[in-house]
Amino acid sequence: MIIIRTPREMREWALAQRQTGKTIGCVPTMGALHEGHASLMREAVAKNDVGVASLFVNPKQFAPHEDFGKYPRMFEADCAMAEQIGITAVYAPDVETMYPDGYQTYVTVEEVSQGLCGAARPHHFRGVTTVVTKLFNAMVPHRAYFGQKDAQQCAVIKRMARDLDMGIEIVEMPIVREADGLAMSSRNAYLSPEERQRALCLSRSLFRARDIMELGERNARKIIHAVREGMADVDIDYVELADADSLKPVEHVQGTIVLAAAAFLGKTRLIDNIKFEAK
Ligand code: AMP
Repeated sequence: MIIIRTPREMREWALAQRQTGKTIGCVPTMGALHEGHASLMREAVAKNDVGVASLFVNPKQFAPHEDFGKYPRMFEADCAMAEQIGITAVYAPDVETMYPDGYQTYVTVEEVSQGLCGAARPHHFRGVTTVVTKLFNAMVPHRAYFGQKDAQQCAVIKRMARDLDMGIEIVEMPIVREADGLAMSSRNAYLSPEERQRALCLSRSLFRARDIMELGERNARKIIHAVREGMADVDIDYVELADADSLKPVEHVQGTIVLAAAAFLGKTRLIDNIKFEAK
């Protein structure tokens, strides 16, 4: 496995792969890799000739009061995991290379970036779409793998790839969970044992809501109310029920919807969601 540090070298390597007829599957990450990331990397390796993973903690998607400084960084362990999975190249540029002095170009996806996480984190998705565009320009992938864990991020990136004719297939992979249901996240490392236990109410409330929908409940207000009741022990940021593609809130469950929640446990903000298809 090779480690590449600059966009120019990354692009040259990727274009050389493409010239020999190889397909490239990429997995953008911020590192601190866990089984969720591993599932994306395995799929990228399985479905493409070469798999490339990026490790880059992107300052542009953190607000000044957020956790950019203390975000877990474990480069050696991440590379070991990527190599063991069969990733061919890791792309790990540094911040100055990505955003040199004078940097001033941003990619903005409008409506899908608003609401849900975009309401509390107004510049977050602009940072995400900007960095993902830069990563795509360097890794020149045929396919890119993202997790449903960040459902809004997936919807925003799918929209961006379509709108900007990127010619990259965006593949959304299911949420990988701990045995007790907690969605895996690099931020789970911040939780105290007591917070870790309370955090379970996110997945449990969402699963209960799915049971209610399976029994036929279609009223979004009632479903959201049930989720909120189950999350009484955490500081709720939002609970929303939205169309899975547009992310516009819906009053009535039909087609494929996403039921998403975000909450604070102490200073740690966790998100989770389920998708449900009404028959
Ligand atoms: P991050 O490093 O947190 O930016 O995540 C990198 C990619 O891994 C994103 O596409 C995430 O949605 C995905 N991911 C993170 N956690 C999980 C999980 N528990 N299951 C599946 N994918 C995940």
